[in-house]
Amino acid sequence: MPDPRTHLNLAHFVARTACEGPGWRAALWVQGCPIHCPGCINPHTWAFEDREWVSVADLAARILAVADIEGVTFLGGEPFSQAAALAALGERLRAAGLSVMTFTGYTYEQLKAANNADWEALLAVTDLLADGPFIQSRYTDQLPWLGSDNQRLILLTPRYAPLAHTFTAKRANSLEVRILPDGQLFVNGFAYKGALGALLRALRAHHLTPTAGTEES
Ligand code: SF4
Repeated sequence: MPDPRTHLNLAHFVARTACEGPGWRAALWVQGCPIHCPGCINPHTWAFEDREWVSVADLAARILAVADIEGVTFLGGEPFSQAAALAALGERLRAAGLSVMTFTGYTYEQLKAANNADWEALLAVTDLLADGPFIQSRYTDQLPWLGSDNQRLILLTPRYAPLAHTFTAKRANSLEVRILPDGQLFVNGFAYKGALGALLRALRAHHLTPTAGTEES
């Protein structure tokens, strides 16, 4: 296994998306999540199994070569399970002027109380944190990028302070569907309740095998 301090085990990577945070962004989903929220739309990312190992240096170069993005979003899986490598990646990207948004199933308070140096390092390079587990009974379609109303968007730097007033505003959710080189479909973004399931069923009915990297919200 590659050194997890300098390499990331990726479940998915999208070079440019408008569905995973403010503006156009690169997005990466890490493999492995210990939290196992009932109703999680990404259970295929739970297992701590080898997927695509990529060095931080190679991934930084790949992201910095993408035109017209303002930042990168880390999703999972659980980003804090690969905090050291994501912190190193975030540091390189922020030095180049990109912003960092990080999703986590932990609360901010849990992350701080753990007193974990790698978790602190990832928090230190994160501009915007989306925190908390997905709780089915608190499902909402009212909050941008979030799936349940216990989750929060927390400014860890002033970078997105001008957008803070939009974090509690109802917004039109959006989905992106990509055809991958191997013919598979990759769906990401945020769908109204039931819409994503209907889309996936329709695709499967046409013998297409979509992989979801999305939150159903
Ligand atoms: S919603 Fe996020 S934190 Fe919860 S099980 Fe799914 S990937 Fe893990």
